[in-house]
Amino acid sequence: MRNVEELVAGFLPRELLSRWFLNTVCLAASAASLLRCSSAVAAQRSLIPPAPAFCAAPDSLGMVATFLDVGQGDAALLVSGGRRQVLIDGGSDPLLLRKLLAQLQISALDLIIASHNHHDHVGGLPGVVRGIRVDNYLDNGLPATIPSYLRLLAALEFRHVRVLQPVARVLMLGELEVRVLPPWPGAREQNRASVGAVASYGAFRILFTGDADSVAIGRWIREQNMPRVSIVKVPHHGSSTGISEALVRATLPPIAVVSVGRNNRYGHPDARVLRLWSGPNRQIFRTDERGTIAIRGCQDGTYHVTSSTTSGTIPQTRASGLLPDPHAASAEGARRPVVDVAIPRTGHDGRSSSPGRLR
Ligand SMILES: [Zn+2]
Repeated sequence: MRNVEELVAGFLPRELLSRWFLNTVCLAASAASLLRCSSAVAAQRSLIPPAPAFCAAPDSLGMVATFLDVGQGDAALLVSGGRRQVLIDGGSDPLLLRKLLAQLQISALDLIIASHNHHDHVGGLPGVVRGIRVDNYLDNGLPATIPSYLRLLAALEFRHVRVLQPVARVLMLGELEVRVLPPWPGAREQNRASVGAVASYGAFRILFTGDADSVAIGRWIREQNMPRVSIVKVPHHGSSTGISEALVRATLPPIAVVSVGRNNRYGHPDARVLRLWSGPNRQIFRTDERGTIAIRGCQDGTYHVTSSTTSGTIPQTRASGLLPDPHAASAEGARRPVVDVAIPRTGHDGRSSSPGRLR
């Protein structure tokens, strides 16, 4: 194994490196080539991890996955180095979501995925669809009767947003690949009917699970060739309904993110879920403890975590690591997606030049 400094130098800017070493204690886990670092550095207030030359050229910016602190709900933003922008779920509060997206300077989205049509996932979306340019939208296809869903449908129609079907397919946005994990066929309950996604930027992969229960997760594992990933968004805010040892074994992420509200009335996350996702080579990040969590990943699988919490009770956390990917070949092998499509950039007039088959 290479020494610690050599490994770290590969994914931290040189000027940050010296300061980082002055303030940070790093433990190298030789077996997994992972670095787990805890920092007592003064809190870093930026929501976005250090940018310039973070990744090896030509992939200098990498992709940032930001798990937004929207309280009890899910909302995550993906921004690739080529500025392709994807929002997965929108929390329940439209004003909060608009504010967070504005802070991150998001004025257009290539794609929104709503995992399912519950208020804590789609409640914030109507305002976004009405307020900024959204090119493509995908949900689980299972209608709901809640007012926020009906407002969302009206906004999608009003803004002529292209609606994509939640079938097994791969959506290409430049170097960002989004593989759709289709919902349980015939499911009548929204959580079980969650549509999932594997977002890949080279070897940096993130699994989004919505509020899928263990039955739906089991089907994904059996039928969708679940790859090893860098990050898992833990199902259903850490509820016991999403417990799946098979998912942990299949994905083996060094990072698990729980998107959950402080002191929520559901008791999320469940202690058994936290135990399940705990491990010597894994860190759990919770939005109720850390606030908004941003993870910048490179195509070689290296990553860097920053969170927004500056409270004295929760230490600022940095974790960086190198994700070995022995399953890469098999993940791309066996099963072919049903549809391969590319989502091109829209023109300046806001009208898409993409073919109708995208639907
Ligand atoms: Zn939920």
